[in-house]
Amino acid sequence: MGEGSRSTTDGTRERQRVLLVCAGVILALALADRLTLGTFAWRPMVVRLLWAIFVTATALNLGGAGRVRTRELMLALAVFSAAFYAALAALTGGVQSPLFHWMLALPVAIAVVIQDHPAAIVGSGLTMLAGGLGMLAAADASPALCGQWVGQATIMVLLAAYVSGSYGRLHAREAAARRAGADADTRARASEAAIAARDEFLAIAAHELRTPLTSLLLQLEAVERNLSNAPGGTLTEVDRQRIGASARQASRLSGLIDGMLDMSRLTAGRLVLNFDEVDLAALARDAAQRFTPDAAAASCVMRIDLPERLVGLWDEARLDQIVTNLIGNAIKYGAGGLIEIQARGDAETIQFIVRDHGIGISAEDQERIFRRFERASGQRQHPGLGLGLWITSELCKALGGRISVSSALGAGAAFTVLLPRRSPAALESLKLKIPAGEPPRG
Ligand code: ADP
Repeated sequence: MGEGSRSTTDGTRERQRVLLVCAGVILALALADRLTLGTFAWRPMVVRLLWAIFVTATALNLGGAGRVRTRELMLALAVFSAAFYAALAALTGGVQSPLFHWMLALPVAIAVVIQDHPAAIVGSGLTMLAGGLGMLAAADASPALCGQWVGQATIMVLLAAYVSGSYGRLHAREAAARRAGADADTRARASEAAIAARDEFLAIAAHELRTPLTSLLLQLEAVERNLSNAPGGTLTEVDRQRIGASARQASRLSGLIDGMLDMSRLTAGRLVLNFDEVDLAALARDAAQRFTPDAAAASCVMRIDLPERLVGLWDEARLDQIVTNLIGNAIKYGAGGLIEIQARGDAETIQFIVRDHGIGISAEDQERIFRRFERASGQRQHPGLGLGLWITSELCKALGGRISVSSALGAGAAFTVLLPRRSPAALESLKLKIPAGEPPRG
């Protein structure tokens, strides 16, 4: 059963309970008639019985009523209750009966019992007015008295209608807020499911693409080698360039697929780290060396400022990924300027910085670019998935550290990686690897 229908059923039950209590009170007050008349009389008792039966029947009917029928039932209940009450007042002494004055309170009482049906309250008010005026006319009341009574009765009906209208608006607002909450929940669940489906698709696609691509790269290398070694013929420069370009595109594709695979591992918490003693200074020098042709092609100059050795317990392949991602981005977004690669450290922590003097990143984009698939605005000319920095940041976290950026649009960017030399995770993993008795290195 949905939230909406459950709350409707609860509301119906509540209303049924109140109506049955009302029926009980109507019967119990038969004693009041006896006091008013000074003697027992059947006619007021029969009217009370009819009234109580009518209220009870309405309460029972509510159970199976739809919204429209509920409205009609409530209108009928209000009109007949007012008529029964007027009949009682007439039978117990007309305008002299105390019930006659209490009639004025009837619309307010009905407004309390059936709050969200203003039409029913107005209906009961009009019936009460007609009943009261009938009794006043039967008692030959003066027009001034009739006018006064009609004035008071009208004020009571308006008050009751106002109370009911306010309740109705309040209920509508509460229901809308509940519906909005339920809608937001449904949307959140749908988008979580969509994200999970997308991640699963990416993981499968990356995995399936990896195998043929590796084979394609090997085939390209073999073709290049065979053609160069073929007797009597060497490759023309154009062919060599074509094969080189195909190999570069294939290895770029391979890098993108590796990124997707890393993403799915990180998202699923399946990243396995192999901690060992690693020299970050040597690793960064190597990486810079590997990037020399790319930097030259982008007209960038790399300046290296690294200590002789900077050793810690890290996962070498993942640390290399952090370093190459940052240098690769510096070349990509460095606008042909100087790229500075620096590192330093104390006994506990090391700091690795890659600074470029390129296009820079606006303050609004600086936090966003570390999220998955997020790229700074206006980057159409540089291809990319927006995954590299997210992976880098997740790897830094996995090694116990963090990454930050300091930049301004058009003024270059400096990415700083802070890593503990021996994170608790590294020490824990080495403790598991090294047999008892042998002290860990580093
Ligand atoms: P990609 O480069 O594939 O888009 P990244 O996650 O590596 O993905 O980078 C996310 C975004 O951060 C980039 O699209 C770019 O807008 C911005 N960015 C990263 N490095 C730099 C940099 N050195 N200078 C300027 N912008 C950068």
